[in-house]
Formats: sequence, structure tokens, C-alpha cells
Amino acid sequence: MRAVVVGGGLAGITAALDLAAAGVQVALLERSGQLGGLCRSVPDPVAGRVDTGQHVYLGCCTELEALLGRLGVEPALRQERLELTVVDPGHPRPRQLSAAPLPAPFHLLPVLGAWPRLPRGSLLHVARVAAALREGPGGLDDLPALGWLRALGQPEQLISQLWEPFLVAACNAPLDRCSAELAAFVVREGLLSSSRAGALRVPGTDLTQWLDPPARRALQAAGVEVRLDSRVHSVSCGPGSKLYVTHGPGAEEAFDAAVLAVPARSAHRLLLAEGRSTPALEAAAGIPDSPIVNVHLFTDRPFLPGAVTLIPRSRLQWAFDRSRLDDQLLEGSWHAAISISAAEAEVGVPEGRLSADIWQLCQETFPPAARARLVHSRVTREAHATFWPEPGSAARRPGPSDAVPGVALAGSWTRTGWPATMEGAVRSGSAAARHLLA
Ligand SMILES: Cc1cc2nc3c(=O)[nH]c(=O)nc-3n(C[C@H](O)[C@H](O)[C@H](O)COP(=O)(O)OP(=O)(O)OC[C@H]3O[C@@H](n4cnc5c(N)ncnc54)[C@H](O)[C@@H]3O)c2cc1C
Repeated sequence: MRAVVVGGGLAGITAALDLAAAGVQVALLERSGQLGGLCRSVPDPVAGRVDTGQHVYLGCCTELEALLGRLGVEPALRQERLELTVVDPGHPRPRQLSAAPLPAPFHLLPVLGAWPRLPRGSLLHVARVAAALREGPGGLDDLPALGWLRALGQPEQLISQLWEPFLVAACNAPLDRCSAELAAFVVREGLLSSSRAGALRVPGTDLTQWLDPPARRALQAAGVEVRLDSRVHSVSCGPGSKLYVTHGPGAEEAFDAAVLAVPARSAHRLLLAEGRSTPALEAAAGIPDSPIVNVHLFTDRPFLPGAVTLIPRSRLQWAFDRSRLDDQLLEGSWHAAISISAAEAEVGVPEGRLSADIWQLCQETFPPAARARLVHSRVTREAHATFWPEPGSAARRPGPSDAVPGVALAGSWTRTGWPATMEGAVRSGSAAARHLLA
């Protein structure tokens, strides 16, 4: 079998490696000049390169870890259990939280005990969520996450202090417009399944350097023909059950099978070009996108109280002390990445105003920032960072076989159960390869 994988993000890389491992002759066609897809950095005139978005994954992301192992890639931070700094705006003393090596949900006892402003009895409320999820998160897709948490008797203070910061970052949607099924999945897998599940892993900067060279080496070693700067225009079924792929300036090539590891709308367009998309793919292409914005601040001294800091009920959301993690992009300066999920309000704000607003907020939130000087700032925006997991969206995510015969769908937007994450992308790539091999 000769197969083409369209798209060189994590889904495409995984599908190509899995197919090649099964003896398939594989060509991977990627429209850009690098592998890694949305896990990427961009040039910055002052700092060299900055990531378009801070990436984090958890101990429960086992398939991603397996792929990174195959690529020989390590994160810059690997925790054994969840450890986090939490800053409550208006209260200068940061809290250092650490999960315990106890069976779930008791591993969260010290975390809940030290978390600022949680209502009394929070462990009991969390245990109630754990009990409700024992049978799995199914059947909740039409409900908003906020309604689901309220129906489980979660106090508003617990929702805004604890659930919201985790879920908005993981699902990239506000709780009142996020499918409860996805939120419930995240709570179950990421927080309540074991003490290791929520342990943070933070990739090194820059993301392109982190993924692209190792992925190229691994694919080449597996015999995959990697073709960069190769945009695919259409995929159509032809005589002899062959698939005809047009790419580049007018080239057409025949394959026995294809994995479309591109965003939903692109996959729909590739098949539609020859009039062969499917209702399932059309429905997925109609799911809106949700933006993520990052503000990179370079200062003359450190100001964040931890490597990873969560600021509940603040526009700052999550802050990463990149210099403490691994990078020294701009000599003599410290690099803080402020990661804002579900950033509808930020994505259209002019760069100068957004940097100034965020820097001012940092100075109000972190006392050492008031004494620091801002050396350089950079805003990165990904308007199409993830699909928007609105209520009802789980049912609209297609599986790998929901295209046309010989074509498998992959991508973090497909029906993996996971939010649009690196783990979801890797799982979708393996599922697509399995589908074609079967
Ligand atoms: C700012 C930001 C922050 C994020 N943070 C996190 C995080 O903290 N943790 C986490 O797990 N996930 C995070 N994600 C999500 C994660 O990056 C994605 O879910 C994952 O990388 C998607 O991988 P993919 O392979 O499915 O798709 P993509 O990465 O989108 O790859 C698709 C590839 O297809 C290529 N392509 C498209 N059309 C064509 C064509 N016609 N021909 C050839 N090639 C084509 C594209 O160039 C691209 O390389 C974040 C995303 C962003 C944008």
C-alpha cells in the first residue's frame, strides 16, 4: 500500500509513523516549511523566536508521551504530581500547592487545603463530582459545563476559583458555552483519575526547534518521504480504487490511501474540490474556532512567584516563567509568557494596547513586577487555535472513517473524546492509521 498523509502536525506525524511501522510506503505532504503544525514558534525581531502559544500537557497524556519518546523529545518541566503556584489578586502572598501521593481524590487534599478562598467542605464537593463521573462523562454533551457543575451543587466560589481556571485553559471556552461532556472528561482524566494524572509537563522553547528536527529525523528513519512546502489542493477517488491527490503547481499523484490530518474546514474543502465531502465532515467544518492569545513580557528582573502560576478570576489566567523553565531568549532579561485562553476579548486588541494592559495588570498582581522594567514585549495570537467545544459539539466531531473510502480523518478536532490538545492530535493520528490498516 502506498499512502499519503496530508498535514505535518502531531496528528499527521503520528499517522505517518504508525503506517510506516506497519510496512506502508508513506509520503507526508505539509504545506508549510516545517513540521509541528500549531506547535510552533515565530520569528521575533528582538527575542529571536517566540512560541505562538505556551503549550502544557499533563501526566494523563500517555499517547503524547509515547510519541515524544519515539522522537527522543523531553519536556523542560516534568512533575511527578501536580505542583502549582496560585496567586489570588489583591493578596500578595503566593500559595505553593502540591498534590499528595495518595489515591484519588485524596491526592487533592493538600491542594484544596492551601487553595485561596475555597469554601468550606470543598473536598466533599469535589468528591461529589468524582462520584458523578464514576460511570464516565457520556450523555452530557447538550448541557453547558456551568449548568452541570451547578446541578452537582458546586458553590459559585468553588467554580470560579478552582474549576473555571482549569477548564477554560483545557477546553478553550468559557464554562457557560462549553460542552459539559468535554469538561467532565477533563475533570475525570486530568484531575481525578490518579495523583500522577494532573502532573504538569511543559515543553521547551522554542516549539519549532523542540519538535521539527526530531520529527524529521524520526520520519526519515522510518522511511517516510517528507515533503515540505507541498500544499495539497484536492483529493479525489479515481479508477482502480486509487486516490488522486493534486498538490503544488498542477502535480497529480495516485495513492492507495490517504490520511487527512488537516483542520476540519481544510479536509472538507479538499474532498469538496471533487464534489466528494460527507455530511459528517460538513458538520465538523461548521464548528466555530476559539482563539488563544499569548503576551510575552521580557523584563530586567524576574517577577513571577513560580515556574507555573495560576491567577484565578484574572484576565492573566496562567503565567509561565520561561527563563526559570529553560529559555534565555533575550540576554540579560527574564521572559514571562502570559497565556490567555478563550481570548475573544483579546484577539482583536491592538498589540501595543494589549501589552500595556497586561503589563499593568502584572504590576498590580505581582509585587516584584512594580520594581521591574519592561525591556520588550510581543503578542502572539492564534485566532483558530482550537475548535469551540460548544454544547452539542461532541456529537458533531467525526471519527476517522467518516470521510470517503480509502480516506481517514485525523486531527485534534476529530472524535477522540479529548479537547483540542496535543494528546487528542496524537490519538487521532493513531486511530486514522488503524482505520486504514484495518
Ligand atoms: C496558542 C495555542 C496554544 C495551545 N496550547 C495547548 C496546550 O497547552 N496543550 C495542548 O495539549 N494543546 C494546546 N494547543 C492545541 C494543540 O497545539 C493542537 O491541538 C495540536 O497541535 C493540533 O495538531 P493537529 O495535527 O491536529 O493539527 P495542526 O497542528 O493544525 O496540523 C495541521 C497541519 O496541516 C497543514 N495543512 C493544512 N492544510 C494543508 C494542505 N492543504 N496541504 C498540506 N498541509 C496542510 C498545516 O500547515 C498544519 O501543519 C494549543 C494551540 C494553540 C494554537
